[in-house]
Amino acid sequence: MAESAIQIRRRGSGADPHIVVIGAGFTGLAAAYQLTSLGMSVTVLEGDAEVGGLAGSFEVNGEQLERFYHHWFATDSHIMQLVGELGGEHNIIYRPTRTGMYFAKNLFNLSTPLDVLRFKPLRYADRIRLAALVLRARAVKDWKQLESLTAEQWLSQLGGEAVYKIVWEPLLRGKFGSHAPDISAVWFWNKLKLRGGSRNRRGNEVLAYYRGGFAALAQRLAAEITARGGEIRTGAAASALLVDGNRVTGVKTAREVIEADAVIATPALPIIADLLRPHVPADYVDRLCKIQYLANVCVVLDLDRSLSKTYWLNVNDPGFPFVAVIEHTNFEPTETYGGRHIVYLSKYLAESDPLYAMSDAQMLDYSLPHLQRMFPDFARSWILASHVWRARFAQPIVLRGYRDLIPSAETALEGFYIATMAQIYPEDRGTNYAVREGRAIARRVCERMRRSQSAPAQTGPD
Ligand SMILES: Cc1cc2nc3c(=O)[nH]c(=O)nc-3n(C[C@H](O)[C@H](O)[C@H](O)COP(=O)(O)OP(=O)(O)OC[C@H]3O[C@@H](n4cnc5c(N)ncnc54)[C@H](O)[C@@H]3O)c2cc1C
Repeated sequence: MAESAIQIRRRGSGADPHIVVIGAGFTGLAAAYQLTSLGMSVTVLEGDAEVGGLAGSFEVNGEQLERFYHHWFATDSHIMQLVGELGGEHNIIYRPTRTGMYFAKNLFNLSTPLDVLRFKPLRYADRIRLAALVLRARAVKDWKQLESLTAEQWLSQLGGEAVYKIVWEPLLRGKFGSHAPDISAVWFWNKLKLRGGSRNRRGNEVLAYYRGGFAALAQRLAAEITARGGEIRTGAAASALLVDGNRVTGVKTAREVIEADAVIATPALPIIADLLRPHVPADYVDRLCKIQYLANVCVVLDLDRSLSKTYWLNVNDPGFPFVAVIEHTNFEPTETYGGRHIVYLSKYLAESDPLYAMSDAQMLDYSLPHLQRMFPDFARSWILASHVWRARFAQPIVLRGYRDLIPSAETALEGFYIATMAQIYPEDRGTNYAVREGRAIARRVCERMRRSQSAPAQTGPD
């Protein structure tokens, strides 16, 4: 490739290299923040009207609330560090939370190891097995040894058949539906490690929240990017790429073309595949589309009273369509929302599932009778307001052998990089890892650009 084709310059101005980041979720914002720290010029393009992506919010009584329930674990160090850099440590609030399980028409408290020993649906020997399983799972250091196993195989080996059938299988089925038997042991190991690692000395789970909601942090990050000279354009979806030879040179939106020396794409892989399709070999695009996703529908209820004292209620009864009932105001106080009690009903499903196409009113009519069976006192009159949120690409499906499907950050198109939720492994999606990966890709792109800038001529792929 000729030297002139790879020279780095801000198109038209001859200034710093210019990088376009597609997506203003936590990955894109963290990447842009890091790029501005490294002295790069950056434009973030976001299709939505607001920043925040899956951690975005809506208003309840004038306060921002996540469309999809969000918390951090005490071990989420990458995002905590970023909050610290932004001078916002005082906004991180740690609180003990109560976890429970709905099973066979009963609510069980499962917050501490002692609760596990009192968990009546299991025989006493199986309760001990369950407690031991959690400890043994957390002790696994080399997750690669689990890669050949499904979660079902691993959990059955560790805790026995009864523990698997009552405790784990309903959770796997509730979340992954027909994919449940093929989910990787690595995915489940990570969940056990995270939840187990976020406990205080008494064994209670301690979770963290950002004062003002996750959207407030996304907005703080966006403000910092802008203050450092970066641009964030909302309502500006990337619709196509500008390509010269095999190198990306810009991004098109409905209104403009933004020239770029490099592009970092953070949306879900099928969206990235659509952008790349006209410019790269078909088999590369096919490989990008190998990872499947689940969608999510969250019904959010503002209630005039509480359902229970539990924050996170796993639904282990197969007769119920939700994987969990999350009473957010048993974590962040009800006073924040003017006394309203906030409850999320979470349903993961295939995008093709008829439930995903239901109107908000239909979804509510479908959901409430189930909630009423769980909480017999609950009445529709308790509802002050309701909201239904949908995310098409909510959860990558982490099957056995997942690592082989993960695309690398460099793509078949020079200068075009991918940093997306589906590449997070062995951990699972989460804002903490979005920040880690966003910052890492920014450093990598910057280093590549500096290296190629200083090289007299470069012929290899970047
Ligand atoms: C139900 C649910 C519960 C969750 N709970 C937690 C939790 O408790 N704690 C936690 O840390 N994480 C949680 N997560 C995960 C967390 O929300 C995500 O991991 C994280 O927000 C992903 O950030 P991201 O930037 O990688 O992706 P996204 O947030 O998906 O951001 C991608 C962005 O790209 C934009 N975009 C798409 N196409 C285009 C285009 N063509 N042009 C421009 N922009 C485009 C999208 O609008 C979006 O804003 C949860 C997720 C869900 C679905």
